[in-house]
Amino acid sequence: MKIASKENSAVKMVKEALEKAKKYESYNIFVSLNEENALRKAEEIDAKIAKGEPVGRLAGVPYALKDNFLSREGNTTASVKILAPFKSPITSTVVRKLEDEGAIMIGRTNMDAFAHGSSTENSYFGPTKNSKDTERVAGGSSGGSAVAVALDIVEFATGSDTGGSIRQPASFNGVYGFKPTYGTVSRYGVVAMASSTDCMGFFTKNTDDMDLLMEIASGQDPYDMTTLPDYYSTTEPKAAKKIGVIKEFDNDAVNPEIREALKAKTEFLKSKGYEIVELSMPTLKYALAVYYIVVPAEVASNLSRYDGIRYGYRSEEAKDLSEIFAKSRNDGFMPENKRRVMIGNFVLSSGFYDAYYLKAQKARTKIIEEYNKAFSEVDYILTPVAPNPAFKLGEKVNDPVAMYLEDVMSVPINLAGVPSLAVPAGETKAGLPIGLQIVGPRRSDKNLINFAKELEEK
Ligand code: GLN
Repeated sequence: MKIASKENSAVKMVKEALEKAKKYESYNIFVSLNEENALRKAEEIDAKIAKGEPVGRLAGVPYALKDNFLSREGNTTASVKILAPFKSPITSTVVRKLEDEGAIMIGRTNMDAFAHGSSTENSYFGPTKNSKDTERVAGGSSGGSAVAVALDIVEFATGSDTGGSIRQPASFNGVYGFKPTYGTVSRYGVVAMASSTDCMGFFTKNTDDMDLLMEIASGQDPYDMTTLPDYYSTTEPKAAKKIGVIKEFDNDAVNPEIREALKAKTEFLKSKGYEIVELSMPTLKYALAVYYIVVPAEVASNLSRYDGIRYGYRSEEAKDLSEIFAKSRNDGFMPENKRRVMIGNFVLSSGFYDAYYLKAQKARTKIIEEYNKAFSEVDYILTPVAPNPAFKLGEKVNDPVAMYLEDVMSVPINLAGVPSLAVPAGETKAGLPIGLQIVGPRRSDKNLINFAKELEEK
């Protein structure tokens, strides 16, 4: 990634990024642009450079911010009406770290409302279009961020991944998308979806940029008690030998061109001397069901704070307090948000808690154990990110179960808390990007990102 210097002005980079953002307006990538602040910051960086003062590792680099990261610049909407008027009084840790290094946010990107979704069609601001085919979805929930990087508007973008929201849109648009080990990057100042699986990460065009961003963004944060003590930058290099593929993921429900792409990559790795090991992970078939119990339960409690009193939008029609809650939430949430609150409250209710929530937590432990076992046999696991490439706009949006099924290969990783990098792996005959993911044991993040270079065919 090119940073600002005497020869490369920050103002010029930011202006170019803003021009491209406007050129691609019809893709509906950005919820808002941050033009004035971005140009002012770029001028400040150029002035520092002219005076010979030191600048950060991301000086003048334009980036796009998923609209669930709080910052004092503009509104943070999470693409939902109830937050549309919301101006944050705080800045998220990720944004603060990026800006301390001189990165410049040029706009906030569209997403599924509250990050609930797999296509960026659940947004209050309408769907984002795929970078390769405008009749298809961008993927989700971080669709805007993925398309902003894929169309080369910005060098990188932020994302949040609760069950695939970085990796799946990355794979639908042919860019890199990384979900770190749970607790590696602070969640402080990001609109919470499911606190036990939410992970913050990035979209980039290559692995070196991903590594640099992870160096900057990772680390313990006193504002997020689930962050791990710093390990990323001090990771000892470890060469991989054995790569696992999951037997249960090789079935007819997976698009044949994606199966082919996985096969081609494993052959390529074999030719480079890696051993390919077939793993059986039978518990993973429960992951989707577990995810769609645990996550809605956490969503229901995280969304209870939106009551029309403390944040954002309040219904004008409400006559008393309980009507303020009910009407503001009813108007302010998107249908998918309501569905999750209802499922969540159902599985947590006294009559059903043991049968659903508790059972799901037990099954989650089994899934974690299955990954631990797998990583005692192999260094990394290579799988598709999703069973299909980008689907048509409107194709699944009215069928929640069909939409949830697209998450079958991404959610187990969040339940286990392990890291995974989505890497571009060619395209279908129709020209749609195919993505594969490299999954590693906890805290293998740095080596995993480096290993991704082994998959690049030069
Ligand atoms: N598609 C998944 C869901 O709808 C994942 C979303 C996410 O990672 N934020 O829950």
